[in-house]
Amino acid sequence: MIAKLLPFRSEPAEGLCHREAPSGRTGIRSFAPRRLPAGEPGLPSLPRQRPILLLADREPAALLAACRHLEQAGFEVRRTSTAAETATLFSTVRPDLAVIDSALPDGDGFELCKAIRRTPEGRETPLVIAADAEDYESVRKSQDAGASDFVLRPINWLILSRRLSNLMEADHSRRRLRASRAMLREAEEAAGLASWSCDSSTGRIEWSPEAATFLGLEDPTDGRPEAFLAAVHPDDRPFVEAEIRSAARERRPFAAEHRIRRPSDGTVRFIRHCADFSLDDDGEALWLRGIVQDVTEKVRAEEQIWRLSNLDGLTGLPNRAMLQHLLGYALPRAAHAGRLVAALFLDIDRFEEINERHGPAEGDKLIVEVADRLEQCLRRGDPVAPSPHFERADSLARLSGDEFVVVLTDVEVVDDIARVAQRILDGVSGSYRVGSAEVFIGVSIGIAVSPQDGDEPGLLIQHAQTALFQVKRLGRGSYRFYSETVNDEVAARVDIETGLHRALERNELSLSYQPIMDGKSGAVSGFEALLRWTSSSLGAVPPARFIPVAEESGLIFRIGEWVLRTACRQAEAWAEEGLGSLDVAVNVSTLQLGHAGFADVVRDALRQAGLPPERLSLEITESALLAHDEKTVACLSDLKKSGVRLVIDDFGTGYSALQYLRNFPADGLKIDRSFVDGIVRNPGDTAIVSALIAMSRGLSITVVAEGVETEEQFRHLQSLGCDQVQGFLFSRPLPAEEFRTMLSSGASPGVTEAAV
Ligand code: C2E
Ligand code: MG
Ligand code: MG
Repeated sequence: MIAKLLPFRSEPAEGLCHREAPSGRTGIRSFAPRRLPAGEPGLPSLPRQRPILLLADREPAALLAACRHLEQAGFEVRRTSTAAETATLFSTVRPDLAVIDSALPDGDGFELCKAIRRTPEGRETPLVIAADAEDYESVRKSQDAGASDFVLRPINWLILSRRLSNLMEADHSRRRLRASRAMLREAEEAAGLASWSCDSSTGRIEWSPEAATFLGLEDPTDGRPEAFLAAVHPDDRPFVEAEIRSAARERRPFAAEHRIRRPSDGTVRFIRHCADFSLDDDGEALWLRGIVQDVTEKVRAEEQIWRLSNLDGLTGLPNRAMLQHLLGYALPRAAHAGRLVAALFLDIDRFEEINERHGPAEGDKLIVEVADRLEQCLRRGDPVAPSPHFERADSLARLSGDEFVVVLTDVEVVDDIARVAQRILDGVSGSYRVGSAEVFIGVSIGIAVSPQDGDEPGLLIQHAQTALFQVKRLGRGSYRFYSETVNDEVAARVDIETGLHRALERNELSLSYQPIMDGKSGAVSGFEALLRWTSSSLGAVPPARFIPVAEESGLIFRIGEWVLRTACRQAEAWAEEGLGSLDVAVNVSTLQLGHAGFADVVRDALRQAGLPPERLSLEITESALLAHDEKTVACLSDLKKSGVRLVIDDFGTGYSALQYLRNFPADGLKIDRSFVDGIVRNPGDTAIVSALIAMSRGLSITVVAEGVETEEQFRHLQSLGCDQVQGFLFSRPLPAEEFRTMLSSGASPGVTEAAV
């Protein structure tokens, strides 16, 4: 329903999102200036100081006497005694009024009057006929001739001068009225206004010419109300008719905005329509007068503004503001009916990575495709009807980036929500074409349910997002309901992300170095650089807490590069000091490997530090091997060609399949601490470690055992032929200065002579 009463205009036309796209044409309306039709009086000319009176009479002597009276009355008199001269003087002098004898010697005064009326200058001028008889015939003839008045000869000039003055005044008033009507018409046209009136005794409507034109009435003389109602848009007609009827019944003004479909050309326009009664002394309606104004451009501009502020530009879905509005509508109703409302906060797993690799344009296309699939999931009769304003999968909104929210209303049991969440996961996850690649996309969903998780739109959305964070932490691709505990975790995560943004600038990041020892000699052969963050607000935050946040927020790219450059510089600085050409191991996130230009960053870090590539090992977790991604594989082989060593970290913890080792160009692997831990007590762990070492030897891969804490473990590993060892037994990770002191002391850290 578009039509509405005017006082309720605060929100632009409801349901506008279903209309055709607005023309977008807003601003100042231009129109051609209107020319006054020929002969139409414009603004009233200033009255002459002394109006010119043309006096035509057959008796020149009588004229002389008349002149005195008339000049005293303020006229400037021009006399003539013939019809021919009268006509000439009229066109040259253009008198303000004329008195014409009905029987001039050379012609009939009535005919002369008629001829003057036909000239442009004589059309409006007051003309008085002076006739010999006051009979019916003379009166009729002077009316037919277009005379303004009639006097009897012989003329009483005193009386005539009074009558002529009155005539002049009336003429001026008439001209002024016509001019102001013309101005009113111009103003109405400029404002897109037109008017109508309806005589309540006949019930017939009279349209102003403009009204008939812009309503597109086919027959403007058809004054039946039905003819007007036929022009009203069919959807708005019942409302308009009912409203007019009730206004008429109650004798009250009527004001509404509605659409018309112009019968003449079928175009749809929006009009603002106001009407009021003029009542007689008894309060009875005499007239109903109305004004119609074409407000199409204004409505379209409002519609555009409404779209911009309520809909997402990329997908056309409701945006955050509209979502809040929808929830604000749905929550109280659901509470009243004892039903649940669920907000499902959804995002695309690793969207940042996809955007980074394929560019924002492809990222946008993916979002649109995901939005489409989401809509399809919701169209199959879900209990969603939060607003009459939206007919389509109205419960779906896009907040920003890859974040969507689905609202389910009128839900009876939580199981229904879980069912929809699962269907969304099944329907939306899958393969998508991104650029030229086929990419598998997963989504995660956090769910908050009202009333238990919040009865206010903002809070419900926030809690759904909190639940989403938790899904992300626990391994994506699934859904999870909100819980208070999750909220605390998310708050902590938000603190970490906020602090991490400023950590680099504030020099809160540092590296610790843990020695890596040669398995046989026990001498330091290299070190692993481990990132440390001492936040001014949070204190020391362990890497296991902040590195996943850095990855999710994309900060890992900047931070990772800083680690790489710092570690390479440090290794070369110690070498130049004569503390030994130690190998340096740097941990690299899988995200960094997929980032275009990472190999160049590595080469540049080496060049700037002056470190030979073969002294740098990049430690990559097993998940990098699982990402069969063209870009990751290309990046790894590029790095490999540069001479950099690639080491698989935490080997054995992930989905390690030995076949990956065959395909992946690894130079080394680090056996995870958990195997080293059990090596003394658990024969199974011993068997795994020994098999790994044997296999690595066959593949010419170096094996490092990490997390060595006891001499017993070390001896065991030595007996199995492990190439390198690392762990608290030798040294904890040390700040640069302490590591340097350790190196310069020359002693192999932490190892008794017996163990070596
Ligand atoms: P990781 O690469 O496997 O590093 C070894 C972790 O084990 C370090 O923890 C180290 O302090 C700890 N560790 C070493 N020896 C022993 C031992 O004998 N016993 C025990 N219980 N622990 C030992 P840290 O420094 O907390 O680092 C944790 C993880 O954070 C690292 O595991 C690595 O995956 C990640 N990380 C650290 N620095 C960076 C970095 O610069 N970039 C990236 N992407 N990840 C990093
Ligand atoms: Mg490591
Ligand atoms: Mg490790």
